[in-house]
Amino acid sequence: MKTFCGRANPTTGAMEWIEEDENYDYHQEIARSRYADMLHDRDRNTKYYQGIRAAVNRVKERGEKAIVLDIGTGTGLLSMMAASAGADFCYAVEVFKPMANAAVKIVEKNGFHDKIKVINKHSTEVTVGPDGDMQCRANILVTELFDTELIGEGALPTYEHAHKYLVQEGCEAVPHRATVYAQLVESKRMWSWNKLFPVPVEAEDGEKMIVSPSEMEKCPGVPSVCDIQLNQMPSSDITVLSDVVTMFSVDFSKPVRSASTSYRVQLEPVKSGKAQIVLSWWDIDMDPSGTINCTMAPYWVKSTSAFQWRDHWMQCVYFLPNEEPVLQGELIYLTACRDEYSLWYKLQKASGEGENKADLCVESPVCRCQAHLLWNRPRFGQLNDQNRTRQYVRALTKVLKTDSVCLCISDGSLLPVLAHYLGAKQLKLMIKTVCYFFFFLLKVFKANHLEDKIKIIEARPELLTSSHLENKKISVLVGEPFFTTSLLPWHNLYFWYARTAVTSHLTSNVTVLPQSASLHMMIVEFQDLWRIRSPCGTCEGFDVRTMDDMIKNSLNFRESKEAEPHPLWEYPCKSLSDPQEVLTFDFRKAVPQYCLSTEGSINLSRKGTSHGAVLWMEYHLAADISVTTGLMQISNEKGNCEWNPHCKQAVYFFSSVIESESLSDLPTAITYAINFDPKTGEITMDFKL
Ligand code: SAH
Repeated sequence: MKTFCGRANPTTGAMEWIEEDENYDYHQEIARSRYADMLHDRDRNTKYYQGIRAAVNRVKERGEKAIVLDIGTGTGLLSMMAASAGADFCYAVEVFKPMANAAVKIVEKNGFHDKIKVINKHSTEVTVGPDGDMQCRANILVTELFDTELIGEGALPTYEHAHKYLVQEGCEAVPHRATVYAQLVESKRMWSWNKLFPVPVEAEDGEKMIVSPSEMEKCPGVPSVCDIQLNQMPSSDITVLSDVVTMFSVDFSKPVRSASTSYRVQLEPVKSGKAQIVLSWWDIDMDPSGTINCTMAPYWVKSTSAFQWRDHWMQCVYFLPNEEPVLQGELIYLTACRDEYSLWYKLQKASGEGENKADLCVESPVCRCQAHLLWNRPRFGQLNDQNRTRQYVRALTKVLKTDSVCLCISDGSLLPVLAHYLGAKQLKLMIKTVCYFFFFLLKVFKANHLEDKIKIIEARPELLTSSHLENKKISVLVGEPFFTTSLLPWHNLYFWYARTAVTSHLTSNVTVLPQSASLHMMIVEFQDLWRIRSPCGTCEGFDVRTMDDMIKNSLNFRESKEAEPHPLWEYPCKSLSDPQEVLTFDFRKAVPQYCLSTEGSINLSRKGTSHGAVLWMEYHLAADISVTTGLMQISNEKGNCEWNPHCKQAVYFFSSVIESESLSDLPTAITYAINFDPKTGEITMDFKL
């Protein structure tokens, strides 16, 4: 059997459906899964174990047999904990077949096969009765079905069903309850991920301003959760406007309702300011008394949280539909609305409006201005980055003349507007044919009275004709470059392919901006991110090597060990080598027919554990003007790195790590081979430690 997988093709800039081996999906699922991260999460694991022991003891003290239902067993971990704690029998339900198979093996290996029955079904398909999957209803319900938003993985409908059909009334639940917390804040940095701020442009004839269409102002944005490692956000980027408030709790030992509802809480701002964002996280109490608590609270709420790293549960950033001034001491209402799978927030002044609870549960946010469909959150941040804009302005000023015929190729770009303000009067913007791009960009141009100054060409570069260009040749070709389909840093090299496709329309002395790009690399030690790819061995005393082997096997599937994108501003690391330029791509020339490859070695200059290599692109806009999508600086002698906060960098994890405590026993270098294949647009790499 074959499956079809969507993949961005960097040579065409388009999403393509590629026929893949039926195992492909499953290997992707395993290789990129969070199972390793969960197994490394000691705080979570020890608290589950304590909670499960306590629940088994409570049932035993009542003189009952302890029958456990573990929904979403994964590796079987929580069922093995229950069996070790003295449970009489466990039903371990897992919907994902490869995981259910792994659970069977792991349970067997740890000697629990007579105590644990693995059921490869979705919990809502599980039957109870003499011929059913379960002989009888369970009196202990154990689950770990939570995501950063708590309910995004379907915990509520799963619990609702389990209480109706799979567990006894009055059952014990581990966790016993979950509580969602919220805090109202002002943060220019995070708000810049949601709205386009006016972009100032220093032009020769004075400062100009790029403004956004008015619809954006009140647009609620997109419903997808924004989850981040909030502990990496410095307190200087957040102005707290309220205390932390409890929005709602769910008691998992009682019947759960998943139907849409809302929860309203009164707040008294502790400071006057602009309410823009609701930061939110949750905690779980493993036992009814609340003595075994596992919390996602950020560092300013719980000082030790910075040391409890995990990537499978982070914190949520909710953007209010529009910013609202609040006054210290003046009461306001914050409402959390939810459906079965997601949450969103509303703020109301206390003056009686919206008293009726039913009115409060409005539909989940839908982008009305189209900007949130075109630009994702990091892209908003990038467009709002004034330092970055300044580099483009400087470079454009150098290359543009009033008679320039300028073509811009980039997705959802403001470069044509910049170019207009900087003097170019004949501007074309080339876009791939996605209609909301067109309509939204037209709105931006209209808002800036440029709709008749910039012509949008809706065509792919290879279909560009002289009539699109009114029989003129392009003298300046510009790109950021940025394309929405790019996953890894080098996928934006699509600009080079597009540039090659329009070659016949370029003047002989065309200026291409950026004139070139370079790929840079550095060896790093991660503070925590290494955990997501590191084998676990044993977890709370249980042998989970079967899972380690499975992940390793999936990572090596078709030997396609690949770099993966990560926003490194969220994942602290230190540099163990100097950054090194490894490949360059000359946009002044067409894409070559042959591969670009390089081999060499990179010196390790600092002690530490080499977890992997980080790679990123730098764009050379014009002579002496470059922008980086990766390393901004190495901030101190310890080697702590600062990364571009609006881009993901490529991380290649080494399959074996080298540790060195002192410089003397340090291997001096790591050798590498890196290859860019112009036929696929992909970069492959290999390292020897
Ligand atoms: N219990 C394990 C794994 C948790 S990950 C541990 O704590 O380490 C959650 C698992 O639940 C995933 O493997 C997912 O496939 C599974 N799952 C989620 N909802 C489910 C449902 N309703 N029925 C069965 N499996 C489910």
